[in-house]
Amino acid sequence: DEKISIRNVSKAYKSTQALEDVSLSIPDGEFCSVVGPSGCGKTTLLRAIAGLDDPDSGSVLVGGDPVTDPGLDRGMVFQEYALFPWRTVRGNVRFGLDRPACECADCEARVRELIDLVGLEGFEDAYPKELSGGMKQRVGIARALAVDPEILLMDEPFASVDARTRDRLHAELLDIWAQTQQTVVFVTHDIDEAVTLADRVVVMGTDPGTVQSTIPIDMERP
Ligand code: ADP
Ligand code: ADP
Repeated sequence: DEKISIRNVSKAYKSTQALEDVSLSIPDGEFCSVVGPSGCGKTTLLRAIAGLDDPDSGSVLVGGDPVTDPGLDRGMVFQEYALFPWRTVRGNVRFGLDRPACECADCEARVRELIDLVGLEGFEDAYPKELSGGMKQRVGIARALAVDPEILLMDEPFASVDARTRDRLHAELLDIWAQTQQTVVFVTHDIDEAVTLADRVVVMGTDPGTVQSTIPIDMERP
C-alpha cells in the first residue's frame, strides 16, 4: 500500500539542478532513509514531500492526495531543533496541536502523553536553553507528533548531538515508531545511521540530484 508517491520530480534553484527526474514510492508504515553526500538534494526532496516547496515538474502524492492540499498533516523534525526559545517544553509541544491555546482536559492530556512518550516528564516547565541537545530534539519530535501527522519527515535530526546520545535517540525513535506505525522519511548523510534505522535506504547521488539505488535492509533492529 503506497503512502508517498514521487513521480519524475525535478527542481532547480537558479543554475543548480537540485533534483533531476526523481521517482520514489514509499509504502505505508515504512521507515525509509534517504542518504547521500551533502548537496545531493536530500533536503529539497524532503521539502517537496512536506509541501514546503513546489517542484518544477513531476508530482508528489501523500495518501493519494497532492501535497499542496491544505489540511494534509506532516510532522517535520529539523536538525537545528527549531524550537521557540521563549516557550517551555509544554508550550513548544502544545504548539503542534490544532488549537495551541486550548487548555481543555483533552489537550492537556495529549500534551502530557507526548511529553511522556519522548521521556521528558519532569521537564515540562523548562525552556530550551536549559536542555541538552538530545532533550531538545525529543521536544522537536514530540511537537512533530502533536499534529498527529500522516507522515513523519526528519532532516538530519541527530546531526547536532554527540554519538552516545545519538545511539540512545535511535533506540527511542524506533520505540516511538513501533507505537505509532507511521511512515517515516529520515534524511541523513550518515550511511551507518541510515542502515541502523531504516527498512530501506534510498541512495542519492550528485550530478545532479538523482536516486541511484534503493537498498532493502533485512536485519534485526538493535
Ligand atoms: P542536501 O540536503 O543533500 O545537502 P540540498 O537539497 O540542500 O542538498 O541542496 C541541493 C542543491 O541545491 C545544492 O547544490 C544546494 O546548494 C542547492 N540549493 C538548495 N537550496 C537552495 C536555495 N534555496 N537556493 C539556491 N540553491 C539551493
Ligand atoms: P540526552 O541529551 O540524551 O538527554 P545527556 O547525557 O545530555 O543525554 O543527559 C542525560 C540525562 O541527564 C537526561 O536525559 C536528563 O535526564 C538529564 N539532563 C541532561 N541535561 C540536563 C539539564 N540541562 N538539566 C537537567 N537534567 C539534564
